[in-house]
Amino acid sequence: RTVYVNGDYLPEQDAKISVFDRGFLFADGVYEVTSVLDGRLVDFGGHMARLDRSLSEIDMPSPATHAEIEAIHRRLIEENDLTEGLIYLQVTRGAADRDFLYPEEPKPSLVLFTQAKPLIETAAAANGLRIAFVDDIRWGRRDIKTVQLLAPSMCKMAARAEGVDDAWMVEDGHVTESTSSNAYIVTRGGRIVTRNLSNSILHGITRAAVLRLAREAQMEVEERPFTPEEAQGAAEAFVTAASSFVTPVVEIAGTTLGDGTPGPVARRLREIYIEEALATAT
Ligand code: PLP
Repeated sequence: RTVYVNGDYLPEQDAKISVFDRGFLFADGVYEVTSVLDGRLVDFGGHMARLDRSLSEIDMPSPATHAEIEAIHRRLIEENDLTEGLIYLQVTRGAADRDFLYPEEPKPSLVLFTQAKPLIETAAAANGLRIAFVDDIRWGRRDIKTVQLLAPSMCKMAARAEGVDDAWMVEDGHVTESTSSNAYIVTRGGRIVTRNLSNSILHGITRAAVLRLAREAQMEVEERPFTPEEAQGAAEAFVTAASSFVTPVVEIAGTTLGDGTPGPVARRLREIYIEEALATAT
């Protein structure tokens, strides 16, 4: 695999970052994940807009223009023959003598790599996910897409230890989101409920598209926190992320939803999301 590091395209085993990089020492960095379908980028503009916001929230200069970042994505797609999968982009504040204070003249590091994997035909989409609840132990600025991913890793490991696929994280009696996706329930009345945007959750790019598509399809959407009990009593549930589009949830904390197979709302949203992604990918 060819990866990109600070201006160079290199075989992954030759790519290097300083041990003093603040991404390594402080998790002082942000990232984006863009999906690739048919060798094209899904919602690239949305991901660049969120990258700019993440960078500005942590006062980090951008290492490259959108046009330069787009060119890097395209070259990695080409060099790695990527037709379906993901591109990860990571910006850190770069190498500096270790100090909690930001360096005065940071030289940000920019790293991109690809991951080839099926996104449309997946076991999770066909069968649905089983979810456990775990305490949300993350920090207070989850709206910034930082590389500080140990807490959600621990949450997902806890779910795996319970024998299920993933965790929905709970804070103050309400679900925030899943470890790497936004969480939704569908009420028995057919309304889609997902937590409102705030510093408590990541502002998913897929979430924005899916809520727009749902409203365009005359589905009712409520953006508000919901409780674990409401989720267990829901007609169906699902998650959204660039890496998994819309993926049904069929079991929550041991309670089977409906007949235990992916629900109609989740299946329809997945279909219309993928249809639009294929039609608009660049
Ligand atoms: N929430 C969290 C915590 C995430 O890590 C992600 C990333 O995939 C999402 C939500 C979904 O965001 P997006 O749709 O932009 O991939």
